[in-house]
Amino acid sequence: MNMMVSVEPGDAASATAAHHSIMVLLVDDQIMVSEAIRRALVGESDIEFHYCMNPHDALAVAKKVHPTVILQDLVMPQMNGLDLVRQYRADPETKAVPIIVLSTKEEPAVKSDAFRTGASDYLVKLPDRIELIARIRHHSATYLYQIQRDEAYSALRNSQQELMETNLELQRLTNVDGLTGLSNRRYFEEYFATEWRNAIRLQEPLSLLMVDIDHFKQYNDTYGHLGGDEVLKSVAQAVQNTFRRPKDLVVRLGGEEFLVVLPQTPASDLAMLANKAVRAVAALNLPHSASSVADMVTISVGGASCVPSRDGLPFALVEIADKAMYEAKRSGRNRAAVSAV
Ligand code: GH3
Ligand code: MG
Ligand code: MG
Repeated sequence: MNMMVSVEPGDAASATAAHHSIMVLLVDDQIMVSEAIRRALVGESDIEFHYCMNPHDALAVAKKVHPTVILQDLVMPQMNGLDLVRQYRADPETKAVPIIVLSTKEEPAVKSDAFRTGASDYLVKLPDRIELIARIRHHSATYLYQIQRDEAYSALRNSQQELMETNLELQRLTNVDGLTGLSNRRYFEEYFATEWRNAIRLQEPLSLLMVDIDHFKQYNDTYGHLGGDEVLKSVAQAVQNTFRRPKDLVVRLGGEEFLVVLPQTPASDLAMLANKAVRAVAALNLPHSASSVADMVTISVGGASCVPSRDGLPFALVEIADKAMYEAKRSGRNRAAVSAV
């Protein structure tokens, strides 16, 4: 193509990678050199050529055209070419672009200086056409490969991050009851087992409250299943709000049954805490005309407490809380019954 190409400003790396063709930027004060190189590149259809005559514009032009290689004249009346090399290297958009320094003389000290400053290669003007093209291709390919590799790494990092977030979200969903937002039975089992072991180790009491909504079947029959779901959410909230210590855990076991895990809570507190939950739900004042207990939604609560020992079974405490809850039902509902072990 060998013509002036203008590229929209934007992210240098991605714009270059998107092209995947070679873009040469020549910075030289002599038009004659520009013409010679332009001619040398005629016929190389994948090599685009851009020329900048004024070294003061060079950095801005480089950021705009996204060269895959810069041919940089060393001696210019307005500026030292090596100062420009330093500028390219200092700018994040151009710091990785290969720079071939063009000089009039074959001088080891000058070459050494150029490499130390950040040049990638050195050619004496005017270079042989075949060699010039070979070097342009070599440096551009390396640069484009590096950009592609960086992009692949960054895509990999992004998908790893996404995967991690998805896994965290999945883990959260596995542990949460969809309707009420409370923890579910699965999480309860994990949490209760941990707290059971802690309580054995520290010889601390561990308490449980079993909560069951009174005459909930009639509620559904009277107000519909959706109305019942709303009650479940409200009761869940009320119980949750009642137990606010960091280690307290309220879970929905399933249906209209909830469990409250109360670590470091002695049997002596249990009746008071169970009654607090009973009152909190009654205080919601959710009408329940079909209930034989009250004209509002109520719960029955059973409490159990123990200081766990190595030969005890965690599930036994759940059964005791459940029995206590049925005792509360049997003796009239809308109340608590507790049993200490
Ligand atoms: P009791 O006072 O003895 O506990 O009587 P109950 O009617 O509450 O108890 P029962 O176990 O006979 O009925 C529980 C009802 O809870 C039956 C079922 O339709 C309802 N239920 C269970 N899960 C859900 C749910 O997710 N949403 C709704 N709306 N209702 C549910
Ligand atoms: Mg039930
Ligand atoms: Mg019930």
